[in-house]
Amino acid sequence: MTELSEYCKVYRINDDRNVLYSTKNAATVVLKDSVLDDLLNGNTSPDIETSLGRLGFIVPGKEQEKKAMRDFMDSVDELGNKLSLVVVLNLSCNLACPYCFEGKAKGPYFMSEDAENDLYDFAARTVTDNHKEISITFYGGEPLLSIDTIIRISEKINGFAAEKGLRYSFGLVTNGTLLTGEVVRRLKPLGFQGAKVTLDGPRDIHNVSRPFRSGAGSFDVIVDNLRQVCSDINIQVGGNYTCDNYTRFPEFLDYLIGEGLTPDLIKSLKFDPVVAANKSFALTDYADWCMSINEPWVLEASVFLRQAVLERGFKTPFVKPSLCVIESKNHFVVNYNGDLYKCPGFIGREDFRIGTLKDGAMNYRDIYSLDNWKNEECLSCSYLPLCFGGCRYMRLITKGDIAGVDCRRDYYDTTLRTFVLQDIEFRQR
Ligand code: SF4
Ligand code: SF4
Repeated sequence: MTELSEYCKVYRINDDRNVLYSTKNAATVVLKDSVLDDLLNGNTSPDIETSLGRLGFIVPGKEQEKKAMRDFMDSVDELGNKLSLVVVLNLSCNLACPYCFEGKAKGPYFMSEDAENDLYDFAARTVTDNHKEISITFYGGEPLLSIDTIIRISEKINGFAAEKGLRYSFGLVTNGTLLTGEVVRRLKPLGFQGAKVTLDGPRDIHNVSRPFRSGAGSFDVIVDNLRQVCSDINIQVGGNYTCDNYTRFPEFLDYLIGEGLTPDLIKSLKFDPVVAANKSFALTDYADWCMSINEPWVLEASVFLRQAVLERGFKTPFVKPSLCVIESKNHFVVNYNGDLYKCPGFIGREDFRIGTLKDGAMNYRDIYSLDNWKNEECLSCSYLPLCFGGCRYMRLITKGDIAGVDCRRDYYDTTLRTFVLQDIEFRQR
């Protein structure tokens, strides 16, 4: 006897057909009512049962499936063959974005050569026999203000990686103003793979939200740089919108295409809201999944903008299982001064520091409320593989603590059906 997976959504799409979406495997199937009825009543034919079982839609038993989900993170960590480090090279920036989450912490603070050496030693100590790859995401401030540090770190780690038979690569989260063709030519031989660059919509909007410190607009400089480098490295474009300006973002997409930044030259493109309790927060340049906001206008805007991106042929992340990297033993965030954290959002908060490059990481289970999703409500929630308890940073800034989950149920109730149908439509195209 088999059952429909706990981690499956059923969406009716017309008179007699339904889309089944597995949140666990990101698989979709279209089933007629009669086949779905048979499935729900346990009368499925052996052939269909085998196919649906292989795709994860039906399982031998829900309790067994929940237990496997509980152990999921441990198995991901055990199988993980990559050591991932996010390295904050400085807290300095040549832009003055009013919503920057680093806010008052910004200043002329740069990684010292001692910390560079400690980083190298930490990577060498932390890498295990399971690892086949070391990957660094250089972050700031603005990481390209520390280009010589990037070069020194990469040269050292490349040497060490070659000795151990590991692959080394790195990327940047950058504002894009210094990402010239010349910079890419210097960095690419060292393992530079790609950059995530932020453009906050059309020129007039972007220039207000991401001005240079002088007050001058940065839009044209960034677009010009992207044109120079987009065929040499992977470019991910992110952008932050507000409820007042998101409807103008499609015109920005058309502008990019007109400027030669066509969908084939951009690896992915995704917009996210600038919003929080104090309406001045954005952390979405860190990673695609780091967002959870249930305000009605955000739900509407995210569906609208995703459609605009896909319609123009740009790639955007498909809806798929994702989890907060805080839970992974193979992921660390290093501050410029050698302090260790699990997420850049917590940098500078002493109570979320988990150690130093010199001393290594202490047990951070309680500090970061690991496994906050291992409760009956989450384990029985069909969104669990997309959510895993949500974003701890968002939970902290909205609720003041990270003891509980940052629940995304309303968000997925409102958006997931449309996202799944968008993915089916645009994959077919
Ligand atoms: S806490 Fe939030 S921002 Fe930080 S890694 Fe997790 S999901 Fe991303
Ligand atoms: S936090 Fe909410 S949406 Fe996420 S798994 Fe738990 S109940 Fe589901």
